[in-house]
This record gives sequence, structure tokens and C-alpha cells, in this order.
Amino acid sequence: GRPIESVAREHGIEPSAIVKLASNENPFGMSPAARQAIASLEGNPSRYPDSDSVALRDALAGHLKQDPQRILIAAGSSELILLAARAFLEPGRAAVMSQYSFISYGLAVRSVGAEAIAVPALDWGHDLKRMLAAIDERVRLVFIASPNNPTGTMLSKEDIERFIAAVPSNVLVVLDEAYREFTPAEHRPDVDKLLQRHDNLLVLRTFSKVYGLAGLRVGYGLGHPDLIGYLKRLQLPFSVTVNAQHAAVAALGDQAFVEQCSSANKTERSRLCAELEARGIRYIPSFGNFVLLHVGDGPKVFRSLVERGIVVRPVANYGLKEWIRVSVGLTHENDAFLRELRAVL
Ligand code: PLP
Repeated sequence: GRPIESVAREHGIEPSAIVKLASNENPFGMSPAARQAIASLEGNPSRYPDSDSVALRDALAGHLKQDPQRILIAAGSSELILLAARAFLEPGRAAVMSQYSFISYGLAVRSVGAEAIAVPALDWGHDLKRMLAAIDERVRLVFIASPNNPTGTMLSKEDIERFIAAVPSNVLVVLDEAYREFTPAEHRPDVDKLLQRHDNLLVLRTFSKVYGLAGLRVGYGLGHPDLIGYLKRLQLPFSVTVNAQHAAVAALGDQAFVEQCSSANKTERSRLCAELEARGIRYIPSFGNFVLLHVGDGPKVFRSLVERGIVVRPVANYGLKEWIRVSVGLTHENDAFLRELRAVL
């Protein structure tokens, strides 16, 4: 998450010479329509934003064929993770998550004084049976992510459906779909159906990944209108900026861009993985826009790559000291990563 300029200064490299493959952003940036929307704002950001993000909420309601009352716009899905923890947890309560899952879940849970129960992974992904068994009377929240960060694993639609149906109704299931758009359409869960059936479900989506708006901070949650109401009451007023709201409406309108980026990601990810395979480097097959690979000493390889102008993500804080996570970049960025990785290893 460090700015490129600060990494460049530390290592005496030109910022423009740095290849950043650390945060699963969209290497193509944002849709030209979103860029245009921001440019055309001119003086508008001197007014407060619409605190209900009505234009964006309505655009999403149309796009998803959802009731707008079921949608909460937030400053990235990160804000929603924290809101869910604040709404459902307190000291003495607990949340269940998988061993290798997004670091913010545990941080949010502990920040409100609750316990984070990490269930050992199964084949690098969620062990849904054990996660279900870990739900005791203290638990009020359970996080699942598909695809999962940092491992890139995906849950099947059927497993997600069965899991949500089996979770007690007084426990909120947070289904994190930050990387949904990178998966084949036929594997995506039918969230409509799930929301109709289960009031204890919050689905998280973001404009930070395939939509390329990570720096603007905008995402949304889908859930029962009462749930959305509770979360909304905990949200800071005006947490979603004018620029973010405008850009997201425009980005949503350019689905061709989303499809192009998702398809380019698939091509480049396959190429990257084929190259790793050819070199005998172990990696976890990924459904996201990143790949977790085994390098022996993760922090050391990370530092050596930084010195060569390639910034990836060390994952020792996930308990994965021997691995690094690399985001799928543009062709020349992936080539640079592969070249420098060879030199470093
Ligand atoms: N969920 C997952 C699984 C992620 O990997 C990330 C970011 O990397 C987020 C949520 C948070 O994204 P944002 O707050 O930018 O929407």
C-alpha cells in the first residue's frame, strides 16, 4: 500500500521505472468514461457529496436488477467489513474466517474487541465444513471470499449456497466478491437468489479491482433492507466522495471495458502461470487477478525484487513466509517480473 514515489526514493529508482504488482489493482487503469466523468466535475467537489449516493445506488439497482433499498454504497468494501464488525460484534463475541483470508477481516474483528477464529485452510481455500463447525454461541459473523485473497481459490456456487443455508440465522455471512468479475460467468453465485432466501447475508463488491478505481475508494454491499439500514446508521456521513460516486456511475456503464480487462487478465495470468510451471516454481492456480507463488524466503525475495524495481506483496503476515503474491499486470510488466524473478532466484 506504500506510494510508488516513496519506494522509489528509498531505493534510488525513478518512480516511472517501478513496476507495481502489489495490490491487485487494474493495470489498465479505469474506463475512459470514468476518467471523463472525473474531468467534467470541475468545481463540484467543493460541495459535500450526496450522503446516500443516490445516482450510483440507482445505477447499480438498474445494473443488478436489485431493489435500491438492498444496496449500501461505501468507501470501498473495506468500510463495509468494518461496519459489519461494528454492527455485529463486541467483546465476548467472535467471527469465523479461513486461515489464509483477507487480512482486514481479522483486523476489523479485533478492532472492536472481538475474537477472530481462523479455521485451517483446505487445499489453500476455505474448509467450509470446519468453518461451520467453528460457529459456536459467541459467533455472530462469518467471512467467506470467492475468489479468495491471497490464495486465489474459488468456492463453487453449490458450496456457497449450502454453506449459507447451514449457517444459523443469527449469524451474518459476509460473502466477499471483490474479484467476482475475474471468474467465468457460469461459476458466479446467483446472489439474487441467495439474497431472496437469506436475510443474514451481506455481499461485498468493489470498484477497486476490475473497475480500476482503487484510489477513489468506492464499493458496495448487498443485503436485506434492515441490515443495510443498520450498517448505514454506523457509517460516517459523506464517506463516499463526489469524485468516487461520479466515476463509479460512469465505470459501471462501461461493461465492455470490464470484459476486456477480465479477459486480458485471464490471458496474462495463464501466461504467467505457464512460465512459472516451466521453471518448476510452485504456484496456487488462481481465479483472481493475482497469483501466490512459492519462492523459499518470501521477505528476502520481496526485498530483492524491490531493489530491481518490481514491487510485489510479501505475505508473511498471512503466515505464508515462503510465498509472495504477484498481481497480474500488463504484458511488459509481467515480463519484467519474470525476468527479475529469474535473476533473484
Ligand atoms: N476484499 C478482498 C478479498 C480484497 O482483496 C480487498 C482488497 O484487496 C478488499 C476486500 C478491499 O477492497 P476495497 O476496500 O478497495 O474495496
